[in-house]
Amino acid sequence: MSRNVAIVGSGPGGFYTAEALLKACPGCRIDIIDRLPTPYGLIRAGVAPDHQTTKKVARNFRATALSGPVAYLGNVEVGRDVSVADLQACYDAVVFAIGMPHDKALGIPGEDLAGVIGSAAFVGWYNAHPDFRDLNPPLDTQAVVVVGTGNVAIDCARVLVKTRAEMAESDLPEYAQAAIEAAPIRDVYMVGRRGPIEAKFTNVELREMGELEAAMPVVDAAVLPASAADYPGLSDRDRRLKERNLASLREFATAEAKGRPKRVHFLFNLAPVAILGEARVRAVRFEQTRVEGERAVGTGEFSEIPCGLVIPAIGYRSSGLDGVPFDARSGTIANADGRVGDGLYAVGWIKRGPTGVIATNRPDGVAVAGHIAKDIASGTKPGREALFALLAGRGVRVTSFPDWERIEAAETAAAAPPAPRRKFARIKDMLELLGPGS
Ligand SMILES: Cc1cc2nc3c(=O)[nH]c(=O)nc-3n(C[C@H](O)[C@H](O)[C@H](O)COP(=O)(O)OP(=O)(O)OC[C@H]3O[C@@H](n4cnc5c(N)ncnc54)[C@H](O)[C@@H]3O)c2cc1C
Repeated sequence: MSRNVAIVGSGPGGFYTAEALLKACPGCRIDIIDRLPTPYGLIRAGVAPDHQTTKKVARNFRATALSGPVAYLGNVEVGRDVSVADLQACYDAVVFAIGMPHDKALGIPGEDLAGVIGSAAFVGWYNAHPDFRDLNPPLDTQAVVVVGTGNVAIDCARVLVKTRAEMAESDLPEYAQAAIEAAPIRDVYMVGRRGPIEAKFTNVELREMGELEAAMPVVDAAVLPASAADYPGLSDRDRRLKERNLASLREFATAEAKGRPKRVHFLFNLAPVAILGEARVRAVRFEQTRVEGERAVGTGEFSEIPCGLVIPAIGYRSSGLDGVPFDARSGTIANADGRVGDGLYAVGWIKRGPTGVIATNRPDGVAVAGHIAKDIASGTKPGREALFALLAGRGVRVTSFPDWERIEAAETAAAAPPAPRRKFARIKDMLELLGPGS
């Protein structure tokens, strides 16, 4: 009997696994299950709307989805519509590729105040993720603090200050574009608890901040080290990257406004210690730090930045899935090289944590496809027909890959060129377009 594999999650982790299984496990039937009718995980809902080239990797995933043994089951949430035990009854192997959808907490007083919105939510909002369509972030402020100095922090800052014209080739939804355009934002502060060398942003993203139409970068030259040469523990490659970042920051330090009304400030060695405000945030309080080894150590000097919106962009977490062992320390599904046990596997962020670029997820998929090919000699489970029967009995409207292609065609048709698509942001609207399923 053919082996039946379910992959839960259609982001890079899920699709790279399907791609690898097609090679490693001939004759396997592969079902990719996602809670959304729209595939591709953070490629659609994380990667910035003005970085369309990055999203093109989805074309390869499309080819995988259209391969004979592969089916897409959208609008099915594991933990809500089906349990892990249900999947184990239907499939010989179940691979979790569910990513890490929640923001890591700052762990400081005031982070529950109105006006504190984590990057997972904020990015989801400007990328039309249905969970965040109605977020309505309070943009009625002149100053925003983004906590973090990684690429996600840069994405948030950049999207807040780019003009409509600069976003013309993006798929930023109109509701977000209109809200950003109407906002009186003048200053965005990107704040890192450690120094410019420890900052995680890559140079392409950093350099872009010096090329914006309406916003200038601001850096105090005095905080920039002369070079990264003496910095311990860096590989040659990392040292070159850090030198490029320092060079960009040095250019920023001498930048002139040239009529640009907005500013993006790069601030370092400041650890947030409290978010201040009564009902809504009015400032963030920071302690000055110095870096000792890998750690930022407080110096006892404090300062405040007044603002009406705080976006912590300090990383992601997951709460796991019922019935699957979870490692609370790392925030991942407990696994040994992707093996979770009993026909269960994990790949992508939920396997190794929220780090790396899209392609970093590929080796996880290759390894797990190899494990499945080795661990499961022949199939004993009924596969997708049994899952379809179960979901039909529960009244779940399962969407297929052709359904997604209809959604995508409608999104493309609705776009005002040069925008590539006008995204649906509500599942209800997607299902209405599709009509009742068969
Ligand atoms: C804001 C942001 C910007 C980024 N920008 C870039 C970039 O420009 N370039 C780059 O190379 N990398 C970028 N990355 C990193 C890249 O997106 C990740 O490495 C990658 O998406 C992780 O893949 P994944 O499959 O583990 O998770 P995800 O992409 O998050 O996919 C998880 C999938 O699982 C589904 N799911 C979750 N729970 C369930 C459930 N219970 N039942 C069914 N389905 C479920 C979700 O709907 C989702 O489709 C960015 C990341 C973020 C957060």
